[in-house]
Amino acid sequence: MLTAELMGSGYARDVMAEVERRNPGEPEFQQAVQEVLESLDLVLEKRPEYRKARILERMVEPERVIMFRVPWQDDQGQYQINRGYRIEMNSAIGPYKGGLRFHPSVNLSILKFLAFEQVLKNSLTTLPMGGGKGGSDFDPKGKSDDEVMRFCQSFMTELARHIGPDTDVPAGDIGVGGREIGFLFGQYKRLRNEFTGVLTGKGLNWGGSLIRPEATGYGAVYMAAEMLATRQQTLEGKVCLVSGSGNVAQYTIEKLLQFGATPVTASDSSGSVYDEAGFTMEKLQFLMDLKNVRRGRIKEYADRFPGAVFTSAAQDAASNPLWDHRADCAFPSATQNEISGVDAQNLLRNGVYVVSEGANMPTTAEGVRFFIDAHILYAPGKAANAGGVATSGLEMCQNSMRTCWTRDEVDQRLHRIMKAIHHACYETAAQFGTPGNYVNGANIAGFLKVADSMIDQGLV
Ligand code: NAP
Repeated sequence: MLTAELMGSGYARDVMAEVERRNPGEPEFQQAVQEVLESLDLVLEKRPEYRKARILERMVEPERVIMFRVPWQDDQGQYQINRGYRIEMNSAIGPYKGGLRFHPSVNLSILKFLAFEQVLKNSLTTLPMGGGKGGSDFDPKGKSDDEVMRFCQSFMTELARHIGPDTDVPAGDIGVGGREIGFLFGQYKRLRNEFTGVLTGKGLNWGGSLIRPEATGYGAVYMAAEMLATRQQTLEGKVCLVSGSGNVAQYTIEKLLQFGATPVTASDSSGSVYDEAGFTMEKLQFLMDLKNVRRGRIKEYADRFPGAVFTSAAQDAASNPLWDHRADCAFPSATQNEISGVDAQNLLRNGVYVVSEGANMPTTAEGVRFFIDAHILYAPGKAANAGGVATSGLEMCQNSMRTCWTRDEVDQRLHRIMKAIHHACYETAAQFGTPGNYVNGANIAGFLKVADSMIDQGLV
C-alpha cells in the first residue's frame, strides 16, 4: 500500500500521493516528507492559505538539483569516476545551507531527504539560513590523503560555480571532516581568487569557529537536558547508549561526561562496543585518536580496554545489539534508519525514556510510532542535531564580521539556541493539541516560518 493511502484525508495526503508518483525509487525522501506531512495536517486545517499558495507542492520540489561527474586519479595512476550532487532545496529564509556527505551509499533519495529535513531544521535554529545538502558516492575510507585531496579538488572544480557565501554555503557531514573541508576550501579559493566564508567547519587558523566541531554532539546533549528538565530531572548518573564514533558521537560522549552521565556504547559500520563501566575522558581520547588520526576500526577499543565487549555488525539483521542494553537515554549518532521498530521496542523494554537524535532520521517510521505512543522524551534529528548547523550559522556571522568569538561565547550562544529550539518545539506541540510530541512541535514550528516567508515572497 502506498504511504499516502495510510494518511488522513485532505491536502497533505494529496501531496504525499504526488510525491510518491513523481519520486519513484526514493524511499528515504518519501519517508522524510511523510513524517513532516503527517504533523502538518494539524496546521493545514487551520490555514487554508497554504493550500491556495501550493506551499507544500513547492516545498517538496527542490529549487535546483545539480548532478555532475567527478573524475580523479588514484595513487596507482588509474582514472576513477564518481558522482557529485548538490540539492538546493529552499532559500525562503536565507542562502542554502547544509552539509556534504561522502559515502558509497549516497544517492539522490538520501540527499533529497537530508535537504528537505535541513530546510525545517535551519528554520528552527532562529538564524537566516535556507536548506541544501550535497555530496558524492566517493568513499574516503581506505584512501590516502593525496587521493582524498585529488577527489576534493575535482569535486570543487564543478561545485564552485554553484556556491558562494551569499548563495549556498556547504559544510561537513558523514565522511567530510576537517581534512576534506580544507581541501575543498583551498580549491574554491584558488578557482575564485577570493577568501570568503563559502564553507563552514573550516580550520581555526583560516576562518573556522571555535566549538563548530563539538556543536552537533553538544547540542544533542543540551536538548536531552532540556527535555529532562520538563520532568525536573538532569543527566547526572544517567546511563546512555551512543551509536557511531565519528564527529557527532565523539562530542556527544564528551558532553555527557561533563554532565555526569555514563555513556556505555559506541559503534562504526563494522560493529559496536559495550563498555559497562562507562567511557571516561581517557577512553574518549583513545577513541578520538583511533578515529580521527589513525582512522582505525572500533574493535580496537575493546582490544585496548578490558571489560569492553565488541560485537560485529550483522548484515540485514532486524535489530542492532547496541540498542539492547539497560539504559536511560539513547543518542543515535551514526546514520539514517539505524533504529528499526524492533530496536525501538528493545530500547523501551530496557528502560530508555530519552532519545535525542544526533543523526538525521536515525529512527524508522515504525520506531518513531513506538516512541510517540510510549510518551517518552523523544527529540527528532531536525531539532536535536540542529546545534551543528546553528554553529555553522555562527561561523558565517563571524566570517562576515571578520571577527572571532571565544570558545565560551560560541558555546553560550549554542546553548541558548538549543534552549530556544526546545522551547519552540515544546510550545508548538502544546499549541497544536499534542503536548510532549516534539516531532509535531519541530515539524510545525520549522514549517511555519518557511511557509510564511514563501507567501511573502510570491510565486517563486
Ligand atoms: P562521521 O564523522 O563520518 O561519523 C559517522 C559515523 O557513523 C561513523 O562511526 C560511521 O562508521 C558510522 N556510519 C556511517 N554510516 C553508517 C552505516 N551505513 N552503518 C553503520 N554505521 C555507519 O559523520 P558525523 O558527522 O558524525 O555524522 C553522523 C550523523 O549525524 C549523520 O546522520 C549526519 O547526517 C548527522 N549530522 C551531522 C552533523 C555534523 O555537524 N557533522 C550535523 C547534523 C547531523 P564508519 O566509519 O565505519 O563508516
